[in-house]
Amino acid sequence: MRMINAIETGPATASGMRDGHGRRIDYLRISVTDRCDLRCRYCMDEVMQFLPRREILTLEEIAIIAERFIARGIRRIRLSGGEPLVRRDFADLAYALGRHVKSGALDELTMTTNGTQLARHAEMLFDAGMRRINVSLDSLDPAIFAHITRGGELAKVLDGLAAARAAGLKVKINMVALRNVNEDQVLPVLDYCEEQGFGLTLIETMPLGEVADDRSDRFLPLIEAIAPIRERHDLIPLDERTGGPARYFALSDMQTRLGLITPLSHNFCADCNRMRLTCQGRIYMCLGHEDHVDLKAAFREQGVAGIDALLDRALATKPIAHQFNVARGASPSTRRHMSVTGG
Ligand code: SAM
Ligand code: SF4
Repeated sequence: MRMINAIETGPATASGMRDGHGRRIDYLRISVTDRCDLRCRYCMDEVMQFLPRREILTLEEIAIIAERFIARGIRRIRLSGGEPLVRRDFADLAYALGRHVKSGALDELTMTTNGTQLARHAEMLFDAGMRRINVSLDSLDPAIFAHITRGGELAKVLDGLAAARAAGLKVKINMVALRNVNEDQVLPVLDYCEEQGFGLTLIETMPLGEVADDRSDRFLPLIEAIAPIRERHDLIPLDERTGGPARYFALSDMQTRLGLITPLSHNFCADCNRMRLTCQGRIYMCLGHEDHVDLKAAFREQGVAGIDALLDRALATKPIAHQFNVARGASPSTRRHMSVTGG
């Protein structure tokens, strides 16, 4: 493993960051690559135009920028993508950021992964300082899984999940609910989570980037998706928050906690505490807006000094809410896919 060296990041701002609407911003999602080894139908088109490599921040640059964000008051970082584990030398970044968990400067470092390469990386993730991860799994049926991911092999993900468990990582499964695609998979996936000691978060499909499927056909409000769960279990709302947008429920007769991410049917923007750094060096203050500030040029010209002013500008412009619309014929809210901003 190559060591990414820490740099002097300047004084921490004790009061942390607040946006123009007074919301505390202490959570950073980093999309470490826009590339992926799968092509999930709700996320990507079959043929994707990925960013040229020269436009991508190096892992060292990502680590230095993230360190400046930590100095400004970020307490949690989630690494995402694209598929983070397809980025070569990803371990270097995991160790560089994990150091801040070990020092107490960060409360948590986590990641979201599709799990295809988890079997090889699970122990490294734990060693680097991660304690919980989210793994996407939209079906336990190999054929449905292959259909949704356009060719993904379910067995690889299940091996990866077994390795994560063996390495001591807490796992939460992310499942995007899709009408007439995986509706009947909700109970099997829930039972699998119970058996494995995993949490389960259901997600409504969001209109980000053009995809071949019509999202209005596939959109399944979670109130409908959880109907079979409610037939078997009582849902008990919990106060628990994990820094993300999910609302959590305990289920009668089950250990598994159920999370619901309902950006369409129940907007979660009032509590938004997040900003997003893309692999291209842009800060997006909202998943559902095109507005961004471009850190890469400022950082390359002025070093960390260039980051602060842009960070302040980004905070001032964070919108109050997204305006997702999955009505038939509506354009996606953004041209970029979730894989660019980091889900
Ligand atoms: N490749 C990794 C994975 O799939 O877990 C990380 C990146 S992926 C963009 C992060 C999460 O976003 C996944 O759980 C995925 O299911 C979800 N996602 C992607 N596109 C989405 C969309 N249009 N609407 C809702 N969720 C989406
Ligand atoms: Fe890749 Fe994740 Fe998007 Fe699926 S959801 S295509 S695994 S980035």
